[in-house]
Amino acid sequence: GNQHKVDANVLLLGAENVGKSALTVRFLTRRFIGEYGDIESIYSHTDKTDGREISLNIWDSLYPQSCETTESISDKQLQWADGVILVYSICDRSSFEVVRQQVQLIRQTRKLSASAPIIIVGNKRDLLHQRAVSSEEGRLFALSADCGFFEISAAETYHGVLLVFHEILDLIKESRALK
Ligand code: GDP
Ligand code: MG
Repeated sequence: GNQHKVDANVLLLGAENVGKSALTVRFLTRRFIGEYGDIESIYSHTDKTDGREISLNIWDSLYPQSCETTESISDKQLQWADGVILVYSICDRSSFEVVRQQVQLIRQTRKLSASAPIIIVGNKRDLLHQRAVSSEEGRLFALSADCGFFEISAAETYHGVLLVFHEILDLIKESRALK
């Protein structure tokens, strides 16, 4: 039947250079290319494996250049999204601060549906020797903000990226079932 079908809009947010595009491309192609440029795009993806049919749109966003004057997330993005993945780099503390600010902004502006899940992702886990944010700090913040949490390396493996997208799709499905 059609009961496993998901049609969802997933928004990727976070500071620049944290690996939003690397995550997106890894999920879509299973590959890590290394250079992605500054491109903002919405990708559509459908896949059918293990009786699980996936259909989603991914908005790979760009963090605005002059964030002091511009809000870092537009209302349009939040109204579009059924779920949000907030990415930081475990070796860039300022990118973790951006995630904190963006969670606060999302909760305050209330443009994102209240039932829409948010997952926080600490990326670049392979760069352990440069770690600036501990796993525990990331996990505790996510817990306090009622968000999911993963640490992954888009550069090293496809598996972690896949888990993140499966989790957000499962949560979106659950949130719809509760309505
Ligand atoms: P975006 O600006 O958030 O879209 O970041 P990009 O996806 O363009 O990635 C920024 C840089 O970080 C690129 O040079 C990527 O190759 C690199 N990068 C992305 N993910 C990882 C990762 O998991 N580990 C490492 N070591 N580098 C990564
Ligand atoms: Mg990018």
